[in-house]
Amino acid sequence: MANENIFDAIIVGAGPAGTTAAFVLAKAGMNVALLERGPSAGSKNVFGGVLYATVLNRLIPNFWEQAPLERHIKGIKIFLISPDNAVSIGVESQAHNNPPFNNSFTVSRAHFDHWYASKAEEAGAMFLTNTLVDDLLKYRDKVIGVKVRGEEGELYADVVIVADGVNSILAEKAGLRKPYARRQVSLGMKEIIELPRSVIEDRFGLSGHEGVELKYIAGDATKGIWGGGNIYTNLESLSLVTWVAVDPMLKAKVKATDLFEQFKEHPFVRNYIKGGETVEYQAHLAPDGGYDATPQYFTDGLMIAGDAARFLNASVHYEGTNFAMASGEAAAKTFLEARRNNDYTAKSLSHYQKLLNESFVMKDLNRYRKMNHFAEKNPEFFGPYFDVITQAAIDFFTVKEMPKRTQEWQMIKDFYKNLRRVSKSRFPLLSFIWKAIKGGISFI
Ligand SMILES: Cc1cc2nc3c(=O)[nH]c(=O)nc-3n(C[C@H](O)[C@H](O)[C@H](O)COP(=O)(O)OP(=O)(O)OC[C@H]3O[C@@H](n4cnc5c(N)ncnc54)[C@H](O)[C@@H]3O)c2cc1C
Repeated sequence: MANENIFDAIIVGAGPAGTTAAFVLAKAGMNVALLERGPSAGSKNVFGGVLYATVLNRLIPNFWEQAPLERHIKGIKIFLISPDNAVSIGVESQAHNNPPFNNSFTVSRAHFDHWYASKAEEAGAMFLTNTLVDDLLKYRDKVIGVKVRGEEGELYADVVIVADGVNSILAEKAGLRKPYARRQVSLGMKEIIELPRSVIEDRFGLSGHEGVELKYIAGDATKGIWGGGNIYTNLESLSLVTWVAVDPMLKAKVKATDLFEQFKEHPFVRNYIKGGETVEYQAHLAPDGGYDATPQYFTDGLMIAGDAARFLNASVHYEGTNFAMASGEAAAKTFLEARRNNDYTAKSLSHYQKLLNESFVMKDLNRYRKMNHFAEKNPEFFGPYFDVITQAAIDFFTVKEMPKRTQEWQMIKDFYKNLRRVSKSRFPLLSFIWKAIKGGISFI
């Protein structure tokens, strides 16, 4: 066996999880190989638009001075939409125009991942692109390396860190994960729509590198199916995204592409994108099962990080990148601890679980664990209920020639009447309040 085939650690996948693990290990002087199937890091990656970067800023302080970023997110606007009405709430802060820019930036993954992998390389990692890992190598049930398609052949290491994303074949080959059940996955669709910089800045009230995110939560954004839509501002383009839970979508017999087209044409969306030219079209799965769907994420000689381990917060905050980086860092730190003890057994690597349990990764996954159950058990909440809420808000602000007190009573009566129409409960108001509280607690 040639020495160049032997590493301290092998990391599969140069997304945020894998590159973080490679960066931390290379910085600590380890002999690390980072393997990526694409022709460059980021070439195969799809995400909505916002890189969450608290971990990155710790690892590479003030990274925004060198990383290829689009805009920092200074404000977020959340919409509930029905076919004709919208209710929105926005937050915006001048403080987010200053470092660390609320740790949220729109990026092109092709550019950002490429830059980030180059940082791991600079730190000393061996970065191999066009390198597709087909299988794990095992000796007496311990993972001892990977099998690469093509001339690299077999590569060996004390530990393999699997960070190959949502469809992780390797986590399945390790026997730690089954293929996704329909209930554990959502489908994201995305278009990048080019517009002149000045148009974007005028349309969204931005200047310099300021950016915003518009979040459309379920309702008519996804025709009442649990999911949502987003618009993110880049420097000279918008990212338009929908994502929808696969199981209810299949049950409703609708196509994700139709939902996407309807979202684009929606009266509360189309004006933001009008005049733009679609230059890229992408689709990707995202893990959606939350805490209860996370698999066993370590075994003898192996750890799983990022989407491969289903570490994604799909709540109103929708954070995957920070979770990927935090888990990549925790896997790297676990490796360093295991190396000190020269013990790479599952028992030793269980330190990974301890680090994740102490971090926001497991705490947040646990915090939102009821979200999917709520969405599954209360599908009506995202369709008819949203219509009732938005109609009540419109009624409140509709200008009529009558005293406001009379108008408010009329609004309350209509609200109740509409609730009775859509609610199956004998006590529609109580049921609505109870669901609104439960839903709010689960998602926000
Ligand atoms: C539509 C959509 C919108 C999203 N929006 C956001 C958002 O706005 N903000 C956010 O924080 N998160 C968002 N996410 C989630 C986020 O993209 C992921 O959580 C994050 O990319 C996970 O990083 P990762 O490193 O685990 O996996 P990935 O980024 O998927 O990287 C995995 C890498 O492994 C490589 N790979 C796969 N198999 C192999 C193999 N066998 N051999 C070698 N290489 C392999 C792939 O090419 C890829 O580069 C979104 C996801 C989707 C689908």
